[in-house]
Amino acid sequence: MPVYQAPVEDTLFVLQDVLNIEKYGNLPGFSDASPDIIKAVLEEGAKLCEEVLQPLNQVGDHEGCTRNQDGSVTTPTGFKEAYKTFSEGGWGGLSIAEEFGGQGLPQTLAAIFNEYVVSANMSFGMYPGLTRGAMAAIVKHGSDAQKKTYLPNMVSGEWSGTMNLTEPQCGTDLGLMRTKAVPQEDGSYKISGTKIFISAGEHDLTSNIIHMVLARIDGAPEGMKGISLFIVPRNTLNDDGTVGENNGVSCGSLEEKMGIHGNSTCVMNYDDATGFLIGEENKGMRAMFTMMNEARLGVGIQGLGIGEVAYQNAAEYARDRLQGRALSGAKEPDKPADPIIVHPDIRRMLMNMRTFTEGARAFVAWAAINGDILERSEDEAERQKSSDLLALLTPVIKGVMTDVGFQTAVDAQQVFGGHGYIAEHGMEQFVRDARIAMIYEGANGVQALDLVGRKLAANGGRSLITYFGELDAVIAASKDIEGVGDLAAALKKGRDDLEAATGWFMQNAMTNPDNAGAGSTDYMHLMGLVAFGHMWVLSAKAAQEKLAEGSGNEAFLKNKLITARYFMERVMPDTATRLARISSGSESMMALDAEAF
Ligand SMILES: Cc1cc2nc3c(=O)[nH]c(=O)nc-3n(C[C@H](O)[C@H](O)[C@H](O)COP(=O)(O)OP(=O)(O)OC[C@H]3O[C@@H](n4cnc5c(N)ncnc54)[C@H](O)[C@@H]3O)c2cc1C
Repeated sequence: MPVYQAPVEDTLFVLQDVLNIEKYGNLPGFSDASPDIIKAVLEEGAKLCEEVLQPLNQVGDHEGCTRNQDGSVTTPTGFKEAYKTFSEGGWGGLSIAEEFGGQGLPQTLAAIFNEYVVSANMSFGMYPGLTRGAMAAIVKHGSDAQKKTYLPNMVSGEWSGTMNLTEPQCGTDLGLMRTKAVPQEDGSYKISGTKIFISAGEHDLTSNIIHMVLARIDGAPEGMKGISLFIVPRNTLNDDGTVGENNGVSCGSLEEKMGIHGNSTCVMNYDDATGFLIGEENKGMRAMFTMMNEARLGVGIQGLGIGEVAYQNAAEYARDRLQGRALSGAKEPDKPADPIIVHPDIRRMLMNMRTFTEGARAFVAWAAINGDILERSEDEAERQKSSDLLALLTPVIKGVMTDVGFQTAVDAQQVFGGHGYIAEHGMEQFVRDARIAMIYEGANGVQALDLVGRKLAANGGRSLITYFGELDAVIAASKDIEGVGDLAAALKKGRDDLEAATGWFMQNAMTNPDNAGAGSTDYMHLMGLVAFGHMWVLSAKAAQEKLAEGSGNEAFLKNKLITARYFMERVMPDTATRLARISSGSESMMALDAEAF
């Protein structure tokens, strides 16, 4: 069975030493997050993930979910009890305001904890994960009455939430949506239509499920401009707030799928179900984006979470598995062979994995702190800056972290050789589970288009200018520090490649938009490399400073510096390849006739 130990020491280093979370003590909720509290929360969360959720990961994969004859869905053995433990511990409402029953702690803590949940059991984590997204939309766009009705029960884990966008004919292109909403005299709507691929659409973990459903009000404009968002509870609510009868909502079937078997993926039928408008008519996409931005960070974290657990298992296996001798001479001559960790090619994979997971952990925390500033700061300029950075980098978090997270799972499987392909070790499950994160929540190709087509140009390019300013400040502050200066120089080279790629688009994509489309995935990954490089320079600087002070765990800090150097020497140079591909334009990509494929 795979092993997992939550990387609490690394998380604490990221939060306290790299990002100095204490300097945000003026933000609401942050003063409650003292170093001791953060440590206690993470250690408690780690225990839950290691002892309760992780042992159910393979169970969930083998058993999957079952749709019963009456349309109800049974989750795998143990999920119900684990969900109760999770909810009673208050983990679902970690960063939700206290007025709704949450703990009001920073979102940053919730995001970090989410990594541990995913590593332990991604399928399980999606039930509270979807609920978090639905709660975010209600907090931001719901009326006071809606907040009061739904949030406390969702925070407590009594009810869960979902996101219903996809229909058979409507995936990426939401303008094709057909589910309809007919206004009723009492102000509610009757919702009818079929949604497919709905995660956690039906299950036995909670007494009600609050579906957030996109639909088109009768007579609304065609396309995206005619879409509204509705709250559609599976069961109606009685006057006293208790759960009533079924509300015309049913699970038509469960999808058979490649991975995340422990999470139910449902075809959902809405048959004159009573729904309540959330936000304004025809402005559903705006409300949905709140949920989607939350979900995109969450899905990016899935790439990190699976990458981390896969890495841990690969590292352990590489220390144990005896095959061949080290090129430089036997390392363990008393044994029949050396452990495979002596081989540079195994090291290459392990170091690639490690630079990803540690870099991504810092990147997630950095993004989540910006999310907290955006939601909680009273300083308009500070909020604007965080908003610009998050808007720019959300597609990178989702797209790059899930692409590299999947590659990390594949590399970890490769370290196991043939044993990685055999179910017993659990490595093939990580590969299967990680794959979906590249597809849902907007396929990664579409994330790249969002970045290049919308985010770069928004507000006259203000986000990118802000980001370059941030990078330049870090490079300037690090360039003269011994042991870090050359890492900062490598970041500068990547940053310049990013600037050159942006300039190339400005000159070549206006006249031929295919040039933007052809380079968008490379551009997203180029920005991802720079974002990771940014985190590695910050991490190396923090490690170097602590070593100079003589504080902290010396071995941990030295390993951090070595890992930072590996990233800069062996991963960061890919920015040049990405730039070369982008600058080659779209001609050879678009030249073949469709029939020639
Ligand atoms: C297990 C699972 C769980 C899911 N959970 C949910 C859920 O909870 N709620 C929900 O609403 N949906 C959910 N989905 C749906 C998921 O979000 C969609 O499958 C996804 O957004 C892609 O839509 P599609 O499958 O229709 O692909 P399509 O939109 O048909 O895209 C096919 C390919 O074409 C590319 N493409 C499409 N348009 C463009 C374009 N303009 N330019 C360039 N490339 C383009 C895409 O990147 C993709 O590679 C889930 C799906 C799965 C498999």
